[in-house]
Amino acid sequence: MDLTDIRTVKNIMAGFGLRFRKEFGQNFLTDASVLCGIADAAAEENDAVLEIGPGIGTLTRELAARYGEVIAVEIDRALIPVLEYTLHDFPNVRVVNKDILKTDLAALLSPYFEKGRVSVAANLPYYITTPILMELLESGLPFHSITAMMQTEVAERLTAPAGDGAYGAITVAVNYYGTAKRLFTVPPTSFLPPPSVTSAVVQITLHEKKPFVPKDETIFRKTVRAAFAQRRKTLPNALSSGFPTLGKERCADLVAAAGHRTDIRGERLSVGEFVALSDLVAEALRETEDAK
Ligand code: SAM
Repeated sequence: MDLTDIRTVKNIMAGFGLRFRKEFGQNFLTDASVLCGIADAAAEENDAVLEIGPGIGTLTRELAARYGEVIAVEIDRALIPVLEYTLHDFPNVRVVNKDILKTDLAALLSPYFEKGRVSVAANLPYYITTPILMELLESGLPFHSITAMMQTEVAERLTAPAGDGAYGAITVAVNYYGTAKRLFTVPPTSFLPPPSVTSAVVQITLHEKKPFVPKDETIFRKTVRAAFAQRRKTLPNALSSGFPTLGKERCADLVAAAGHRTDIRGERLSVGEFVALSDLVAEALRETEDAK
């Protein structure tokens, strides 16, 4: 079965009475070299792979041919009979009909983590790329890596250096949990139907041990969110909007105590600098609480 053949894909869709559902971001890959590029990079031989959004099983088949086990989570119930058909010769694939954002990943994947390494591979639905990546990263599960297709604009944000216009809260989050690398660019013609944007495959390799650990992870996340909520504001002003109990002056003192000029903007801080600043913010919040 060749799912990179456009006629075959159209015949399967028509045979099952289906249409490509835009609301689920259904742009199926039909480019063999792109499929091999993602599948080859995604994991190592005995790993289990979580695939998000298998569609009609095109990438799933490539993953199943290479790796120990594949757990494929697909939201669209109408595609489940198609997947039973296209994956019937791969007993190492488990298809789960769920919304990935409403899936208890720890419960689903714990048997696989007990046996060995788990990585993630996906041609992501573009309308929820960032929520899915955040869900995976913030799950605290020890994925080895996440190899994902996304629109180039998001790929640029994930891999932007500090100070760049594309550098934002998602860049800091990704750098906190791992290292992101852009693998290759993919044109719209590699999909059916072609999306209106150019795409890129990014691989995030998660840190086995995080190089920077904040004293309070919730305050760290809030500090990063506050810093980027109003990008044009200076960091002390942005912080004081996020932490109104501290006030502008205190926030300026904290930014200076962290070793920065008080007219700096959040986009210049590396993840290590955000962690250090958030530790000062956490301490200041405790003092403010104690003084009450
Ligand atoms: N992997 C297939 C391929 O490469 O041809 C399909 C990729 S397509 C870009 C995205 C897939 O994700 C679709 O099958 C879509 O139905 C599915 N999807 C969309 N939202 C989802 C969600 N919240 N949870 C799980 N799957 C989702």
